[in-house]
Amino acid sequence: MIQPFARRALLGTAMAALAAPALAQPARPKRVVATFTVLADMAQNVAGTAVLVESLTRPGAEIHDYEPTPLDVVRAQAADLVLWNGMGLERWFERFFSRVNGVRDAVLTMGITPVGIGEGPYANQPNPHAWMSPTLALIYVENIRRALTAIEPQHEAAFQANAQAYAAQIRAVDARMRERLAAIPAERRVLATCEGAFSYLTRDYQMREAYLWPINSEDEGSPRQVRALIDSVRRSRVPAVFCESTVNDRPMRQVARETGARFGGVLYVDSLTGPDGAAPTYLKLLEANAETILRGLTTAPAAR
Ligand SMILES: [Zn+2]
Repeated sequence: MIQPFARRALLGTAMAALAAPALAQPARPKRVVATFTVLADMAQNVAGTAVLVESLTRPGAEIHDYEPTPLDVVRAQAADLVLWNGMGLERWFERFFSRVNGVRDAVLTMGITPVGIGEGPYANQPNPHAWMSPTLALIYVENIRRALTAIEPQHEAAFQANAQAYAAQIRAVDARMRERLAAIPAERRVLATCEGAFSYLTRDYQMREAYLWPINSEDEGSPRQVRALIDSVRRSRVPAVFCESTVNDRPMRQVARETGARFGGVLYVDSLTGPDGAAPTYLKLLEANAETILRGLTTAPAAR
């Protein structure tokens, strides 16, 4: 004879079995949080529709010394995976992530050999802007694919296919950039920018790099930095100088005024734009930069 307690237990089991199909219904989509918009866009391309991806920082945000909000901790805590660049880019990340428990993370520069920062307080530390090289971006894509597969193995084939298709698009943009930037005469192949964020890009496309400050920090656009770049621009007679979307371009406009170089426009590195801007995706960021650089360095210089 079944005791009342045991009968209740059995009944409970039966009800749980009946309820199970309802509970097993559409699984909550996995959530991925990236530290900034460029990584979020790359991750969305690999994830497709299988995973929700968002960026902690908004378009246009300063990402090196970003100050995370309590809501950012909540967002990361609710995620299944947090993607970050590493190599010292997000100086706030480790302290931030220590407040998040039990969430996986992936460093997307894993496997990349860094170029060192040339000078200043961060001299000899890795220059973190490796995504500016389309060739190295392929390593980011592979790291994203692996990290997504680890949290959502049943979508492995889709991630694989998406990653392959996206890598092909990156290679195509790279090939176009190579062809277009090759039109810049050798003596004008100097990319003068605000932050020294173009070391990987200039290495890929055989350009020289000049900048106001080596990496975004407290020390941006000091009189000493402005003076040094003015000297360098005068010496190399570059026709145009540029500045990035996330920093103040005032010191670079001063360099332009004092050297007679043109202010060649805005470049995108540390952030995408919103959907209506020139760089709403990583691929568009690469193309917009290539166009701006090409236009700036091939247009006849103003009389000096
Ligand atoms: Zn930067």
